[in-house]
Amino acid sequence: MRAYVIGNVAVDETISVSSMPEAGASILGREETRDLGGKGANQAVVMSRTGLATTLVAAVGEDFRARTIRDQLAEEPVDAHLVALAGRSSDFSIIFTTPDGENAIVTTTESAGSLTLADALPALDAAAKGDLVVLQGNLGEDATRDILREARGRGLVTAFNPSPLRPYFAGFWPFVDIAFLNRGEAESLAGSSDASAATRLIEAGVRHVVLTLGADGALLASHDRPVAAIPAVAAKAIDTTGAGDTFMAVALASAALRGVEPDARTIGHAAAASALTVSRRGTRLAFPTSEELAKILAS
Ligand code: ATP
Repeated sequence: MRAYVIGNVAVDETISVSSMPEAGASILGREETRDLGGKGANQAVVMSRTGLATTLVAAVGEDFRARTIRDQLAEEPVDAHLVALAGRSSDFSIIFTTPDGENAIVTTTESAGSLTLADALPALDAAAKGDLVVLQGNLGEDATRDILREARGRGLVTAFNPSPLRPYFAGFWPFVDIAFLNRGEAESLAGSSDASAATRLIEAGVRHVVLTLGADGALLASHDRPVAAIPAVAAKAIDTTGAGDTFMAVALASAALRGVEPDARTIGHAAAASALTVSRRGTRLAFPTSEELAKILAS
């Protein structure tokens, strides 16, 4: 069993500022971290740390950020297939943080928006029936729909996290086996963030729907079982960046490594892992280590 995460990778540059810059202002800041980021890379890194064989397919430009991305991915147990796009810049996020914990994020998507089904085909060709294909919302509309449809057609198991949210994702459910949505995504794409939203997506053809509700935990709805509510694991939340990515990666890996469909234990493992992520600052730096994940998955 292998997971193929087809998504974006970026460099997250976090700058601490005393207050958010006003339009027209020129202010001083201090670089806090330069970390690997991007939802695709986040999910692939966490998944690979669980011990599940994981391939990441993502686009980068030809610039200094691509080198940072390659170097950071080389430190992880992930098999990275980076598509180098001539003449484009790698994606990055500038994150401003203030002492009171507020943040503002600006993200570029030039590389991720250029990835196509053709770029993903070598990975899909390598995949065996039952392998996981994992997508998020950073690729272009055609690429996202085409890759999900192609993967589904080949008998692969598709998992989709419609984030960042775009209204057209509502038409993709027939190609999705397992969906992960947070409150805002569920409200926008399924009309609410309660059990009825999950049921609506099951009716649209999704086999398993996970709604994550921050500190209120998660709901799991499956095509063959009633909706289950699973609590979050208590944590002192310092920085919730990457909580949703940790949750999805660990839930998928927990089920895949045990050879089962997503169940309550899967969600419990995901909640324990994301409680660690929210209790630490940063993105990759905040993710649970392989040792921590081994303990969680054995529980
Ligand atoms: P993010 O965008 O911050 O990565 P998200 O909006 O995609 O997250 P959430 O529903 O906020 O997703 O969080 C995902 C999971 O992380 C929750 O279901 C929960 O298990 C865990 N989590 C989030 N916030 C907290 C918290 N304050 N305390 C404990 N666990 C939390």
